[in-house]
Amino acid sequence: MADDIDRASEREEEDLAIALREQARRAGLAGKTLADSATVCQQAGCDEPIPLVRRQALPGCQLCVDCQARRERSKGRR
Ligand SMILES: [Zn+2]
Repeated sequence: MADDIDRASEREEEDLAIALREQARRAGLAGKTLADSATVCQQAGCDEPIPLVRRQALPGCQLCVDCQARRERSKGRR
């Protein structure tokens, strides 16, 4: 029984990892590491600190959640 639960959570972790990799690929961050991430948002005039969890989830990220979302929205319109 415990094995089933372990397997289920392992699969969830795998799904999450795949989703994050896909997100990183779309953001042009494939192959980046945690060290490539900015600790504060690189958007001019923002300077929002980027939490460690976000940097771990999206290695190489340069923008805070808000600026990233804004950038992705404006990208979609072009
Ligand atoms: Zn920002």
